[in-house]
This record gives sequence, structure tokens and C-alpha cells, in this order.
Amino acid sequence: MVSSFVAALLILLIARQAAGYPCTPARRADCPKPPGGLALQQVPQFVTVTWDDAVTSQSYGIVQQILGGLRRRNGCPIPSTYFVTAQDTVPAAVQALYLSGNEIATHTLTHVKYPSAQEIVGCRDWLVNATGIPRQRINGFRTPFLLHNATTRRALAAAGFLYDSSLPDSAPSAISPSVRQRAFPYRMDAGIPQTCETGSCSASERWPLWEVPLWAAADAAGRPIASMDPAGDAFEIYKRELGWRLGGNRAPLGLFLHAGAESAPERVAQLRKFVQYAAAQQDVWFVTNQQLLAWMAQPVPASTVAAQLGCKPPADIAAGVKACAAFVSDCNFGSWDGRKCRCVCMGEGAPGGFCRSRMGECSLSC
Ligand SMILES: [Zn+2]
Repeated sequence: MVSSFVAALLILLIARQAAGYPCTPARRADCPKPPGGLALQQVPQFVTVTWDDAVTSQSYGIVQQILGGLRRRNGCPIPSTYFVTAQDTVPAAVQALYLSGNEIATHTLTHVKYPSAQEIVGCRDWLVNATGIPRQRINGFRTPFLLHNATTRRALAAAGFLYDSSLPDSAPSAISPSVRQRAFPYRMDAGIPQTCETGSCSASERWPLWEVPLWAAADAAGRPIASMDPAGDAFEIYKRELGWRLGGNRAPLGLFLHAGAESAPERVAQLRKFVQYAAAQQDVWFVTNQQLLAWMAQPVPASTVAAQLGCKPPADIAAGVKACAAFVSDCNFGSWDGRKCRCVCMGEGAPGGFCRSRMGECSLSC
């Protein structure tokens, strides 16, 4: 109850303090400026990792291969933001992600183009009911296929969402003059300053929402490749992007991914290598979108950002909902038991039956 209240207060505070943020259609030149008048060397270099679509045993396992065991310099696990589609999602996996410090956001019930309010809000309702995550902790949205319009944003605003993250931005653009000068997230209270590459939007639309653009990755010549799952060596692509930002205006870097598109062993290795490389750099911090926006609203210098980010995972699953802090993606030769929070293996305990390995999977030799 208390933590729900604190979370609601924080969201209100973020919305309040950000009201004067200057990146608007009338002041596009301000979009690449760090907030709060911070000098460049004081700006933390944020990196976000987002995963779209259903959270399944398979997708959970792929992300574990990429990020499992990796930590920020303050010892916290590397967090991600999950834009979850209800269809095919395993609630126990979502709970485990939330309870280990990841952000859970919505991506509609059934992954439709130009979704209705029912698809958007219904997904949040489903997540709240199925996982017990407090409603106010689920306040971000990405639209399927990045197809959005004013109706999408009206639904988000009416339902009290904090932010949208559906608008790709390929530099050079109206808000990002070059790959070294990308726009920071912005408020839509005074209009949308982006020229929409997907869906439709207009400078005159006004919404009480943040937008976290999908900064498109570029090739070595600075030409845009893609905003999501860019083809090529992921380590080289994101290392170059990070270098541009550290030598530029320190706008956030986003890895916008689908687990299904990142499952090849070489791709897993490239992404893991990049995260290890980036997390070790001075002033680089992996954050969720919510953490990024909390900093946008209250921009503290890099030297003190660790205290703002904290490291304490949430524990506020609704009373009466069974929650598991861990999830095993591979219950082959058994099945996941949500009441016991573990794999129950075939013939467990019987002579010749399967047993649980140290990783919690079913095996014949434990
Ligand atoms: Zn999707």
C-alpha cells in the first residue's frame, strides 16, 4: 500500500517537474540539449534495452543468455524494459522479471495495428490481474508495428499512462541534427516535435505524456539502418553508437530488440559482448525507461546518479497473488509449477526419474 502510494507520487512528480521541458515543435533546436542545464561531462550516459512481444519460456531463456549474470558497476543486475503482449505470455515469467528489477510495460492484448483503447488498457488490466504487479507500476506503452495515431495517444492519456515509446527517429531528423546530436526524450504537452516515420502524428497534438523515441541505429557512414534489431554485427553497431554519444551530446542509447530476432548464437554473443563492454565504461548506466524519465524530470549529475537509481528490486506484488522471484525457462522433461515456483520433473523422487539440476532444470544426473 505504502509503496503504491510512493509510486503514484513519483509519477505525479515526474509529470509536474517536466512541464517546462523545452523540446517542442516551436523549439526543436532544444531537443538535443541535456535537461537541467547540466554540463556535458556531468550527463550520465544512459543505455536502455527493450524487449517487445509475448514473454514466453523461449523468449525468457534467450534474454537470460544475453543479459543473465551481467551487472552495472554498482552491482545491480542490468535491467530491461519489456513491452508485453498478453497473448501467449507466461505470467510467472513476467513476475520473475518484475521482481528482479525489470520494467513491465504494455504492447496490447493481441498485437494489432493501430490498437483500440480496449487493446491498450486491456493489456494493462490483464497484466495486473495475471501477475499482481500494481497498476501504477505499469505505465509505458509501445504500439505494435510502430503504427500509431492520435487515437492511440488519447487512450494512453485517458488511462493515465506516463509515456509512449513508438516513434522512430533516424538522424538527421527534425529533432536529431546528427548521429552525435540525438534528441532526448520529450514531453508532448506542447505538441509533437517529431516528423513521424511510422504511423501519423501532428505538431498540434497535445498530450500529458512523455515520448521516448526509438533512436535508429546507423552504419559506419552515419546512414540509418533500423530502429529495431538492426542487421549486422550488433557489438560493432552499438559500440559505434555509444562512441558517437559519448563524443557528442550524451543522449540516451536504446537497444530495441525482439528476443525472437536475437536468438542466433552469434547474435547472442555480440549483444552480450556489447553490454559487458558498455557497462564497464565510465558514466554509462543501463536503466529502464521509467528510470530514464525519472532522471529527465530530476536530472542529477553523473557523479550522484547511482544514488538516484538505487538497487532495490520491488516487492509489491498484490496480496493474494502467488509470485515467484525466479523462473526456469527450460522445464523439458517436466513442467513449471507456479505454486512451488519450480520445475516439477517427470518421475521426480522415483528410481530412474528425472531430478532437478543446480540451474533448476530437469536432468537424469543431478
Ligand atoms: Zn511487437
